[in-house]
Amino acid sequence: MNINIIVCVKQVPASSKTQVDPETGLLMRSGAESRMNPYDLFAIETALQLKQRYGGQVTALTMGPPQAEAVIREAFALGADDGVLATDRRFAGADVLATSYTLSQAINRLGAFDLILCGKQTTDGDTAQVGSELAERLGIPSAANVSSVRMENGRAAVTYEINEYVFDTRITLPCLICVDKDICTPRLPSYVRRQASAGLRVHTLTLDDMPDKDPSHYGLDGSPTQVKRIFPPEIEVIHEVWRESPSETAGRLTSVLADLGIV
Ligand SMILES: Cc1cc2nc3c(=O)[nH]c(=O)nc-3n(C[C@H](O)[C@H](O)[C@H](O)COP(=O)(O)OP(=O)(O)OC[C@H]3O[C@@H](n4cnc5c(N)ncnc54)[C@H](O)[C@@H]3O)c2cc1C
Repeated sequence: MNINIIVCVKQVPASSKTQVDPETGLLMRSGAESRMNPYDLFAIETALQLKQRYGGQVTALTMGPPQAEAVIREAFALGADDGVLATDRRFAGADVLATSYTLSQAINRLGAFDLILCGKQTTDGDTAQVGSELAERLGIPSAANVSSVRMENGRAAVTYEINEYVFDTRITLPCLICVDKDICTPRLPSYVRRQASAGLRVHTLTLDDMPDKDPSHYGLDGSPTQVKRIFPPEIEVIHEVWRESPSETAGRLTSVLADLGIV
């Protein structure tokens, strides 16, 4: 069957201790310690297993600063055949709408595909919206929270879950699937594969390579949602040691909880 798969992967801060730009309120990603979004490892693994079963090609795609090339190289070390980095200062500060638009333009530039795989969400913005919005932008069907996928008569047979309900459906290709984290067990990047893929080229797309070259559709300018301020929640921790009898302690705890309106 040979399926042409694009996997969307994002580079995210490796820890929550990432600096915030006081001017823009955005995360300062350049130079910050970063890693592949853990949920995208399930999307890559699903793509590699489908390629193994049906043949075809796996292309990893990311939008991010130049350092995001590292997640494409990680995808190569896992088994991806090709990689694309959409990077341009004019893409910076993108909200979900602008991110999905930029990815859709990059995919339109790349040409024909059968299946797009995304992770469930990211560990930084974690809106879990880019996948579905990207499908809308491309005018293709999509499914989220997918826990199994196989090909059947040229369609994707998927199982997805919404709360306690489980759905089985068939989706016409090309389509987009956001995979859940229980769909598979991601393989580890192999040293041999990392060495073998070191020579693979990461293709870079800037705004000038996109079908739509209007900068106002990208980045902060193209984002109706702007993160005004990111700040760690103030956590107030008070330590108290109560030495009364168990029943007195129970009584005191009940009145404290009542005062807090919890009981
Ligand atoms: C703390 C914080 C809060 C934010 N709140 C909002 C908000 O309320 N509304 C809003 O519009 N934006 C918000 N943003 C901006 C938003 O995070 C970015 O637009 C981001 O690029 C995409 O959203 P996400 O991280 O939520 O992705 P999600 O929708 O959670 O990602 C789902 C999947 O889409 C794919 N994907 C996502 N980003 C990329 C990428 N750059 N390259 C390739 N594939 C990708 C991956 O497969 C990923 O698993 C916020 C950012 C931060 C850091």
